[in-house]
Parts: sequence; structure tokens; C-alpha cells
Amino acid sequence: MSGGDMLDFEIRPNSTPVSAVDRAALLANPGFGRVFTDHMVTIRYADGKDWYDARIEARAPIPMDPAAAVLHYAQEIFEGLKAYRTGDGAVTMFRPEANAARFAESARRMAMPQLPPETFVESLRRLVEIDREWIPEGDGSSLYLRPFMFASEVFLGVRPAKEYLYVVIASPAGAYFSGGVKPVTVWVSPDYTRAAPGGTGAAKCGGNYAASLAAQAEAIEAGCDQVVFLDAVERRFVDELGGMNVFFVYDDGTLVTPPLTGTILPGITRDAILTLAAEAGHRVEERPVSFADWQADAASGRLREAFACGTAAVVTPIGRVRFSDGEFLVGGGEPGRVTTDLHRRLVDVQRGRAADPHGWVTRV
Ligand code: PMP
Repeated sequence: MSGGDMLDFEIRPNSTPVSAVDRAALLANPGFGRVFTDHMVTIRYADGKDWYDARIEARAPIPMDPAAAVLHYAQEIFEGLKAYRTGDGAVTMFRPEANAARFAESARRMAMPQLPPETFVESLRRLVEIDREWIPEGDGSSLYLRPFMFASEVFLGVRPAKEYLYVVIASPAGAYFSGGVKPVTVWVSPDYTRAAPGGTGAAKCGGNYAASLAAQAEAIEAGCDQVVFLDAVERRFVDELGGMNVFFVYDDGTLVTPPLTGTILPGITRDAILTLAAEAGHRVEERPVSFADWQADAASGRLREAFACGTAAVVTPIGRVRFSDGEFLVGGGEPGRVTTDLHRRLVDVQRGRAADPHGWVTRV
């Protein structure tokens, strides 16, 4: 690709798409991450050729050589965002250019080539367009988009690969919490950390998630929904959850979230909440919060609410916190007023029910 020209996408429609009847049955109860649409996007990269061979084609297995670099050294990154059907029948995506920017930053950290952000957004748009019948109806439902890229070069040397494949697949998703917004219980891992200074914590690379699974399994074992990671240096400050950022709401209306110092993922929901909360009149601060303060402030009542946020769970109250020596409740374990209000404000923008002064919503 030369001089900023947009790649041409070759469209090869699926010749055996899922029938309308079967699709309706799948969409009635899609769950998460198990049902997929008829198509995928693929774009190839090779050193010296740049990005080439962009296609929209039938979703199918990807043939892979056993020596493909990703299988050995995990040079892989991904993104996650949603497309929605709005009340007036339009199809929208929430801040796809923010995912494009984060994808490029993840690529840089993993020594991978950067896909031009406009190609990234266009690839999502093309897939949503061709598979728009797969977007479930109904509040809380959406089409989850999963762009990813991996080292496809057949080579066992440890160095940045010279060939990559970028792919986008799409998966209809039902409401994350079927019974409405229900507070979760989180587990503060005593053994495991997620990301050290100078490491890959701010990149959305598969390896970060592989490394979090033992901690997440420990959380499940302890009867919790999600793991909370503390900082890797002092094991003192709250970093984030396995797949969500965290916010604290104090009795004077201040919202606090840990700062982006390179060890946590810069969540797009986090960023939106910071903006929406400030607009709703809250003071917002990005500063470290220690686990000891979390516990003490929850006990004294100074901390009124805590919530997790991310694309999948949107805004989810944290009702109970377990750790190796005990547990405590936040806000009596009930969803708080500020959490509920911010959840509604965010969903209203995402669903096209509220004004969009920041241009966060992209029509497909
Ligand atoms: N932290 C981690 C580790 C995550 O995987 C995610 C989900 N992408 C988030 C935070 C939230 O990010 P976003 O709001 O962009 O979904």
C-alpha cells in the first residue's frame, strides 16, 4: 500500500451462509463468544510488501504451519468492541478509532507492523455491513467485533516476524448480565501479578491473558467472579481486574481510577467514564489507590461505591472483595447510585439515545 491510499477490499461472499431460520435460532440466545457470523476480514503483511491482499471472505479455519512464529513466541495482539442496532434501525460502533489507536500502540510494543487506523476502522465497517443481519435486537445485545493480528512467518528464530495476518471475526452477544446489573465479587490475588513496569501491561496482547488465567482460576476457586491485580513492585496498589478497569466513588462525589503508568490497559470505557463523570459534575482523579485504603475506606463508609468497566461488562458494581485474610463489602454490597447513573449515561450514548458531543458513535 502506498502513500496513505486505502487498501481495496476484495469481497468474496460466503456461498453457503447460515440460513435465516438457523440464524434466528442462534440469535435468540447467543451467549458470548460461541456463535460467529458468515464472514471474516483478512489482510496480509510482509516486509517489503506492506499490507496487501485485503479480503472479506467466508469465515473459515486458517491453515497454519507448525513453525508459524506466533505458536512459539506469542507475537499476537487483539482488540474488542461492539456494533449495535439503535432504536431507529441504524447500525453503530462505539469509538472504533480509539480501538484502532490502541491496536497500533499494542503493535508497536510487540514489534509488529502498525495497520493504518483508517484501514482498521474500514475493515470493521465492511464486516458489519456484510453481516449486519447478525446483529441481535434488544437492549444489552450487540455484535462483538474481534480484530486480531499474529506473526504468520514460518521461522523459529527469536526476532520480530516478517509476515503477519490481520483478521476480524464477529460474534453476536447477548446481554452480559441477564438479570440486570448485578454486583460482582472480586478476588485480590496474593500470588500473581499481571504486569511489571516496562512490561506489556498496556498492550492488548494474548500473552497478558494467558498469564492471567491461573489468577482467574484462583478467583473462581475462591467463589469470585473476577481477579483484581495489585501492582507488581510493592503489591500495594490496585492496578485493574483481569479484563476491566476499576473506579472508586467517594462520599464527596469524587471518582478515582488508577493512572495509566504502563502496567494497566488504557480502557476505552475507562476513558469514556472519566469524561461522562466530569460532565455529570463529579470530580475525577487518576491516582494510585492502595488495597489497604480500599479496605479502610469501605469500612469507614468514605468509599461509597466501586465498579469495574470495560467493553464486555460495560459498568459493573463491585459488591464484595475477597482476599487471602478475609473479605469486605463495598456500599453494603448493593449497586450504588453513581455506578447506576454512569452505566445509564454510557449506554444511552452507545445506543444513540443521548447526545454525542464527542463524536464517539460511528454509523456504519
Ligand atoms: N483491562 C483489561 C485487562 C481488558 O482486557 C479490558 C478489555 N479490553 C479492559 C481493561 C477494558 O478496556 P475497554 O474498555 O477498552 O474494553
